[in-house]
Amino acid sequence: MLVSKINEVKEQIKSWRGQTIGLVPTMGALHDGHKSLIDASAKMCDKTVVSIFVNPTQFGPKEDFDKYPRNLDTDLEICRQAGADLVFAPEVNEMYAECPAVTIVPPRQYTNILCGKLRPGHFDGVCTVVTKLFNIVRPDFAFFGEKDRQQLIIIKKMTADLNIPVQIIACPIVRAENGLALSSRNKYLKVPDAPLYKTLFDIKMCYNDGMTDIKTLSKGVSGANGLEYLEFRDKDDLSLKEIADDNTVVFAAVKIDGVRLIDNMELG
Ligand code: AMP
Repeated sequence: MLVSKINEVKEQIKSWRGQTIGLVPTMGALHDGHKSLIDASAKMCDKTVVSIFVNPTQFGPKEDFDKYPRNLDTDLEICRQAGADLVFAPEVNEMYAECPAVTIVPPRQYTNILCGKLRPGHFDGVCTVVTKLFNIVRPDFAFFGEKDRQQLIIIKKMTADLNIPVQIIACPIVRAENGLALSSRNKYLKVPDAPLYKTLFDIKMCYNDGMTDIKTLSKGVSGANGLEYLEFRDKDDLSLKEIADDNTVVFAAVKIDGVRLIDNMELG
């Protein structure tokens, strides 16, 4: 079922009292990566709510909010097939009726780095909209992809620090056959190549062979075409690593055809 009003969601949730509820927040243009989150929720929870909302507050003024892909009909079909019970697709003025409004600001050491460094304010927008969705749906479980691992770590910290009664479930990255992490923005690529995956995979292989020095592990990569960052960080608190260990995640972003692709890989 599709609804666009907050009150309609609350009414529906009320009628599900006593059942476990899973929430899958998305911005639509759904693909198999999103579907894996909906599948996981449908398996684990009695009822699954998918939100589809291109959230303006997480886009910078020069970013692609206006041209972000939107395709509600196809999205609804994917939600139906994956076993979603409710799709919440609000308009912007339904979510942001009050202006100015209170926003959630996560600690800067989590947001001044990686994608946040390139997208100031992005994670404030993400945390604010996710908190609103949590308060509207009141899910027992919420599903997030490891594809956006910085986001996942920040959301986990936010729910713990603010005592939000929801359990965050991390879902593995779904990739194309060539390793390219699926993303709604991949449709802008002229060639759906997977340079990041190959780089990250090679680094992981070197780590498996016993190499732990980060300078050596990233040798030959730092100057790569379009590379925006390649960093080794802790998988729980995002602190920088000097020596790689099993808790290390390699995060990378590259800009190709004007599109920023992000990926990450756990070494352990
Ligand atoms: P988005 O619509 O891009 O905001 O993504 C919604 C959710 O789907 C986020 O939790 C993403 O991390 C997750 N997601 C997007 N792409 C993938 C993927 N390839 N594999 C797993 N999860 C994904």
